Amino acid sequence: MNTLAITGEALIGGVAVKGSGSAIYAYNPGLQQQMEPAFHAVDLQQIDQACRLADAAFDQFRALSDEQRAVFLETIAEQIMALGETLVERVMAESGLPRLRIEGERGRTVGQLKLFASLLREGSWHDVRIDPALPERTPPRPDLRMRMIPVGPVAVFAASNFPLAFSVAGGDTASALAAGCPVVLKAHSAHPGTSELVGRAIVKAVELCGLPAGVFALLTGSGNGIGQELVRHPAIKAVGFTGSRSGGTALMAVAAARPVPIPVYAEMSSINPVFLLPQALAARAEDIAQGFAASLVLGVGQMCTNPGLVIGIDGPDLARFTATAAQALAGGAACAMLSSGIAGSYARGIHQLEQHADVSTLALAGQEAGKGAPALFRTTAAAFLSQHALSEEVFGPASLVVACRDLAELHQVAESLEGQLTATLQMDAADLDTAQALLPLLERKAGRILANGYPTGVEVCSAMVHGGPFPSTSDGRSTSVGTGAINRFLRPVCYQNLAQALLPPVLRDNSEADTGAGTNAGRWHRRDGVLTRA
Ligand code: NAP
Repeated sequence: MNTLAITGEALIGGVAVKGSGSAIYAYNPGLQQQMEPAFHAVDLQQIDQACRLADAAFDQFRALSDEQRAVFLETIAEQIMALGETLVERVMAESGLPRLRIEGERGRTVGQLKLFASLLREGSWHDVRIDPALPERTPPRPDLRMRMIPVGPVAVFAASNFPLAFSVAGGDTASALAAGCPVVLKAHSAHPGTSELVGRAIVKAVELCGLPAGVFALLTGSGNGIGQELVRHPAIKAVGFTGSRSGGTALMAVAAARPVPIPVYAEMSSINPVFLLPQALAARAEDIAQGFAASLVLGVGQMCTNPGLVIGIDGPDLARFTATAAQALAGGAACAMLSSGIAGSYARGIHQLEQHADVSTLALAGQEAGKGAPALFRTTAAAFLSQHALSEEVFGPASLVVACRDLAELHQVAESLEGQLTATLQMDAADLDTAQALLPLLERKAGRILANGYPTGVEVCSAMVHGGPFPSTSDGRSTSVGTGAINRFLRPVCYQNLAQALLPPVLRDNSEADTGAGTNAGRWHRRDGVLTRA
């Protein structure tokens, strides 16, 4: 596989194939120009072929040792780095994002693959549980052993807003492959060339590691039909998605209507409330406002964790906050957004807020067609509580400040919120009791609660939760960032009274000797002839 080519083809069965459907072109939002070559949409037969090959590859892929799969993930990371400038320049052209951001995102992408490689070597993902037989007990207890296994081929929908870290080799793909699930990937039409380059790097890694070609496929083209057909395919056993609420819920409906329904892990819409607690606001309104403004404009606001809502108690301290934030944002430049669709929906969202009778405009930098410029709005808690439209995500560098009469009203606003990826507390020591009272409510609403920081900037690590109650995600029990993301694509199997020879190596009493890689080293040791938690 030539990894540096962009031919506009899909990648199925380890080879590049031209789709027979309608063509789309990549678009350079910075230059507002169409880019060559044409990417043709895959047809139904090609979708079917990719899914069947994934199904055929599943047993061989899941039977690999942890070490072999770890090496595969590391090989993908190497192949991505080997794309060098060709990749960086293509991502910049297709996304309008600056070099520093792209290089950072590439670092995060390969870092994530390596993190999953270390998770595989460390072995805790198997979640081995052993309840040894108790033959003397009445009634006797059988020998029971549990481990996690991969669910099967996974359909991944690449996100538009992270063309590397949440796209072809992003968190969903890395966690599914780590779990032992082949991936059939629906490329995002906002960065098709980037997708092909990274897809080719994965196919090359499949080749180098001697894996079956069905372990990975890249489907090209635009249109809901491709994604829906993919989710309907009987070989697909789970879905990873990042995008709009309408797209995510449409795919959830398709998955639920299948003869055999499957889980959809969709990350959709979140406005990431920031609570300005009174003492912190009194002590450092201007500092908080500066930090908030910087977080809001990061990546032209096209972040799932963008702080789209600020909640504080009305008065001179909140006025100092809004004045500083408005000043910082009003001078901001309009920047190219990821796609014309995203720019269009941002412009509509801003316009609706600007025209809203109960909303005042605090800052509105010069808007330009196809670009997103920072905007800050203000409303009262009473208006916010009575009009659901004010709590809808405006994807881009815009935020709404909600002024509350008192703490009771601030609680009411918090209670009215839908599920969120994050909730932020700006607080000082003197706000401890206020924060304590708010915390149980925020735990019900959000997947990550942070103090004195800003929600953008998501660390990729074991403790990270990038998930939350609906509609921030479709399944609030999961995370799409960090090592916990692997659990979305695993399911438990219990083995009762199976002979040692029949047990998977990780569950055998002499497991370490059998697996070689020490898959459960450090977590279990032998006691009285059985593996026991260390
Ligand atoms: P999107 O429109 O939801 O598209 C994401 C992917 O899903 C694309 O591959 C798209 O395919 C597919 N898709 C969308 N609707 C579908 C449907 N009904 N059936 C089957 N497949 C479907 O998301 P986007 O293009 O990235 O951005 C649009 C909006 O999503 C943004 O303006 C923003 O509001 C929101 N967004 C939110 C986040 C977040 O993290 N909160 C991130 C990104 C975007 P095609 O493009 O080929 O049709």
